[in-house]
Amino acid sequence: MSIDIRNLSFSYGSLLALEDINLTLQEGRFNALLGPNGAGKSTLFALLTRLYALQSGDISIAGHSIAQHPAQVMRKLGVVFQQSTLDLDLTVAQNLYYHAALHGMSKRQARPRISEQLARFDLQDRLDEKVRHLNGGHRRRVEIARALLHKPEILLLDEPSVGLDPATRESLNQHIRQLCQTEQLTAFWATHLMEEVQSDDLVTILFKGKVLASDTAAQLCQQHRCADISSLFRSLTGVTE
Ligand code: ADP
Ligand code: MG
Repeated sequence: MSIDIRNLSFSYGSLLALEDINLTLQEGRFNALLGPNGAGKSTLFALLTRLYALQSGDISIAGHSIAQHPAQVMRKLGVVFQQSTLDLDLTVAQNLYYHAALHGMSKRQARPRISEQLARFDLQDRLDEKVRHLNGGHRRRVEIARALLHKPEILLLDEPSVGLDPATRESLNQHIRQLCQTEQLTAFWATHLMEEVQSDDLVTILFKGKVLASDTAAQLCQQHRCADISSLFRSLTGVTE
């Protein structure tokens, strides 16, 4: 299931946050959106998830415009927002059953899916714990499990690893890559961390609201004669940190 973004611009009043974005995500792949704070990543996610209405340009998912066919398209998306949206005072189970109900699943339908997702994240023993008592990495896993409950074909993750220690970050990142391979999931992973991008990822570099480059990291490095993604980023943006 691919996503096509065409001539997309978005302003907050006089601030142009996204400027003429053209981008195609590849099906069943790990697509990275790399850009520093303020680049426009979350704004793009807000448009993809219809939190904000489109101002100009279009987004289509599997050939359907999100403005014209919102219900069909939204069903195919799973989302993990930058800020956690779990209810800390509810248990893991309560958070997940509530979400399943929002997607029209009965308890009977939801139960096996919840077990399956939690087992996959090694969280099957935490079902009755309040989310407040889980560490940051486990909370993120619960959010990803929740986002996958309705079996979306596309998973959007906005800086999912912020605030996690490097080992947890790495394992989360690997887990999503695995899902892309084994289940043909299309992932769109926004980050400002270069080390989360691997050479065979499709990476889009977003800077000050503009797409500076979009291709596999390896292709881009070769094309721009850069040894790695960090030097590619420096070369394209002029930012030396
Ligand atoms: P990122 O997620 O890459 O850090 P954002 O999409 O959050 O970037 O922000 C892009 C730009 O839009 C920034 O300059 C930010 O200050 C601005 N911005 C984001 N949200 C709002 C808002 N609700 N109102 C006004 N400006 C905003
Ligand atoms: Mg953001």
